[in-house]
Amino acid sequence: MDLLKDVKYIKGVGPNRVKLLNKLNIYTLKDLITYYPRTYEDRNKPKKIDECIDGEETTIEAIACGNVVETHLPRKTMQKLLVKDETGAAIITWFNQTYLKNKFITGKKYRFYGKINLKFGKVELNSPVFDEIDKRNNTGRIIPIYPLTYQLSQTTLRKIMENAIKEVKGNLKESLPEEILKEYNLEEINTATENIHFPKKLEDFQTARKRLVFEELFSTQLALLALKNNYKNEEKGIKFSKDVHISDVIKEFPFSLTNAQRRVLEEIEQDMESDKSMNRLLQGDVGSGKTAVAMCAAYKAVKSGYQAAIMAPTAILATQHLENFKNILEKLDIKCELLISGITKKRKEEILENTKNGNIDILIGTHALIEDNVIFKNLGLVVTDEQHRFGVKQRTKIAQKGNNPDVLVMSATPIPRTLALILYGDLDISIIDELPPNRKKIETFAVSKKLEQRIDAFIQKQVDEGRQCYIVCPLVEENEEMDLKSVIELYEKYQKEIFPQYRVAYIHGKMKPKEKDQIMLDFKSHKTDILISTTVIEVGVDVPNANIMVIEDAQRFGLAALHQLRGRVGRGEYQSYCILKYEGKGENVRKRMKVMCETNDGFVISEKDLELRGAGDFFGTMQHGIPEFKIANLFEDIEILKQAQKAAQKIIIGDPNLKNHKELASLVDEKFNKRIEI
Ligand code: ADP
Ligand code: MG
Repeated sequence: MDLLKDVKYIKGVGPNRVKLLNKLNIYTLKDLITYYPRTYEDRNKPKKIDECIDGEETTIEAIACGNVVETHLPRKTMQKLLVKDETGAAIITWFNQTYLKNKFITGKKYRFYGKINLKFGKVELNSPVFDEIDKRNNTGRIIPIYPLTYQLSQTTLRKIMENAIKEVKGNLKESLPEEILKEYNLEEINTATENIHFPKKLEDFQTARKRLVFEELFSTQLALLALKNNYKNEEKGIKFSKDVHISDVIKEFPFSLTNAQRRVLEEIEQDMESDKSMNRLLQGDVGSGKTAVAMCAAYKAVKSGYQAAIMAPTAILATQHLENFKNILEKLDIKCELLISGITKKRKEEILENTKNGNIDILIGTHALIEDNVIFKNLGLVVTDEQHRFGVKQRTKIAQKGNNPDVLVMSATPIPRTLALILYGDLDISIIDELPPNRKKIETFAVSKKLEQRIDAFIQKQVDEGRQCYIVCPLVEENEEMDLKSVIELYEKYQKEIFPQYRVAYIHGKMKPKEKDQIMLDFKSHKTDILISTTVIEVGVDVPNANIMVIEDAQRFGLAALHQLRGRVGRGEYQSYCILKYEGKGENVRKRMKVMCETNDGFVISEKDLELRGAGDFFGTMQHGIPEFKIANLFEDIEILKQAQKAAQKIIIGDPNLKNHKELASLVDEKFNKRIEI
């Protein structure tokens, strides 16, 4: 049996259905059997007609009392059937199901499943599915309900799945080692696969799910650990000089470092001086001072005789870094340059030449750094900023421009430690958990939309005093067209109706990078007062004069996203404000708004976010190259995750290259080929 064979060879799948399955990302038999149900309906426990409760989905077993009667209504037809059991009668109604007319035989018993409607004591059942009493296709058992099916009906997908399961049943090779199955009390793969789709009892599904979740998390852990190991096993990394003292650059900063900055610098310095290559994640909240840390590391690399590359996700950010780096490092006789796509050809050639011959010590830039024509003389350190914008592949690609350079990945998205271990299991982790002193807390208010006018008055007061304001549009899920519409609508509202006296601009993700940069620069240089934006401003450009952030429909954002956005203000000397305009009275909405008002600590917020929303949504807001899980839920399954981590560690210690675990090695390969990349 070939798990990778095309779904078109599965019984019940014609050319039309192949297309629909492909839309669900189902291409192979394996994709199909790992397309797991979203939930289940227990259509197994029939009720007597006189026990039926209004509004409930219920199974009844009843005898057809006559033929289906069809009525023609404007633009539709209606089919009605009278049925009865020993306790009473019920009327069954369908619409546009003409084929049902001769379907039922009077006096014969059927099983129906649908929603009950109690009208004046009469039992009605609307558009139910049904079987003859001795059959159990649509009723009489636990039915899987699949997520998103496009034009495929649940019934069709279920039939296809039944055929697929018949085909694989008993033929699936166990991918987990015997001792792990035993130790963690996991079900073998064939039973688990059958029971996740077609459980006979609900406990069956629990057992099956546990095994499949374990396998998924375990293989991810294994993949990450194998990758980490790989770095470590490679030929030796660079040993940067112990005689270059980071303290010499620290002296140049106009501030003294926080304890957290000092601590992570020690960790980094240790990595750099050892002969293993550094692969380290530096996590720190917005404004925690990661750039200073990166500068110190770059200084150490350069003064040890190597070049450094700093990669940022946007041209503006790269430019901002260049300014910061130059300010401090030029005094120390270090040459920094900027490589972004907007520069002239001549300039670019010059930079490429000087990078190649080693005249440039630190090259700062965007994706442009990855291009093949960028050649370093002696690249020793790679720093990627705002790592979630880059995939593992890009990170690896830039590292390949050196001979095993040290790599520092910086992320401003604080995530709970447990999750950091999964997502960045291939990296060592350093955390800056402290902000520089004397930061003014960003005052945050959650305000019902009804108070809009007061908010506008507040903005007006600040802008009249010379400040600037961001207004963030409601998040429109997965739809850039709508995003665009809402940004322009909001722009017109503010520019034309509310603040005609100010210079209002807008920015959104569909603009060309150059256009976006220009708008950001205009805002930065105070050519505009109010910037209406989608979440594109999330990536950090410093506008110290902007001190208000208004977020429209804040209830639609995850806390992590709100926190990221809020970090755009509070970057200068002015007291800054974040106003969360929200709608909705739900307990959860209020709780979330409260968290935002009470704390500015990104780590606290991310823990709460995870707690209040669950991992799925949490990751949805971060949009990065996190492996997507088909069945595991990182919030609910944290216990299984811990077990899986432990199990993976044990395996890797005993068999670092998985030479003695062929099945596991192929699980790992699969993860890397399909999942962990953008
Ligand atoms: P992020 O971690 O978000 O990248 P930055 O490195 O951009 O933060 O730092 C934010 C601001 O804080 C910068 O203006 C920087 O000069 C300043 N800064 C960094 N470290 C300190 C410190 N120890 N004391 C005071 N200000 C600091
Ligand atoms: Mg930064």
